[in-house]
Amino acid sequence: MDWFVEYYNGCGLTIKVRRKIYEVSGVQKIEIYETESFGKMLVIDGKIQLTEFDEAIYHEMLVHVPMLSHTHPKKVAIIGGGDGGALREVLKHDVDRAVLVDIDRNVIDLCRKYVGIDERAFDDERVEVVISDGKEFLANCERFDVVIVDSTDPVGVSDTLFDKEFFEFAAKKCDVFCCQSQSPLVQKEYFKILIENSRVFEKRRVYTSCIPTYPLALWSFIIAGNFDFDRLEERFERLRGKTKHYNPEVHRAAFALPEWLKKEVE
Ligand code: SAM
Repeated sequence: MDWFVEYYNGCGLTIKVRRKIYEVSGVQKIEIYETESFGKMLVIDGKIQLTEFDEAIYHEMLVHVPMLSHTHPKKVAIIGGGDGGALREVLKHDVDRAVLVDIDRNVIDLCRKYVGIDERAFDDERVEVVISDGKEFLANCERFDVVIVDSTDPVGVSDTLFDKEFFEFAAKKCDVFCCQSQSPLVQKEYFKILIENSRVFEKRRVYTSCIPTYPLALWSFIIAGNFDFDRLEERFERLRGKTKHYNPEVHRAAFALPEWLKKEVE
């Protein structure tokens, strides 16, 4: 029995692991563990990406908030998200097409084989997988109803998903945009860059959720574009499949920001 530790800003999260299931170094260093209490865990370049214990909170808040803030999303792009958790949630909506764009095929293949949180989403005939840098894809793609960014921290291959040009492409290519925007407590520098770059959208808002295995648990998201929170209950009723965490009350409550965070956003 061993311990996995992720360090950030002078502290760290320690998780007891039973065994390492797989490790490979390619585009990114990918490790998959079986943990003592949190189920399987995906780690990329030393950072926890998901555990089975709390991934539903993250993926449901990342996906259902933008999807249900759009009147009728039919065409959706997920940038990153190779583990398939966001894709699984997108397919609960009445979409015609879901394109998942990830730079690293290993994440998709290994998560399908050893983690399985996609629940066979990749086999769905509405799904198309593109192996590419997300920014390059957005520069040249057709328009989508919703674009969702499920990226790693902005170091290494994912830094393109955090720059201004990426947001400029996104603003032209979708009605509703949503990205995870890191920890506003211990990753302020990343959070500020995303807030700044999201100014290319006229309308945008920050929301938060508690994801226990992400740095200090408080996690942030940015929704932008032509979104509204009208008829959330009616839209939620139409969802195929249940949610573990998301509901319209949680959706609205997630936008209530404490004073210190309002200041950061302003
Ligand atoms: N939600 C997780 C988090 O915040 O820790 C991220 C999960 S998901 C596994 C992140 C995915 O983004 C990975 O599969 C990675 O390969 C992908 N990714 C990183 N940089 C990318 C880029 N430039 N274009 C497309 N996908 C990228």
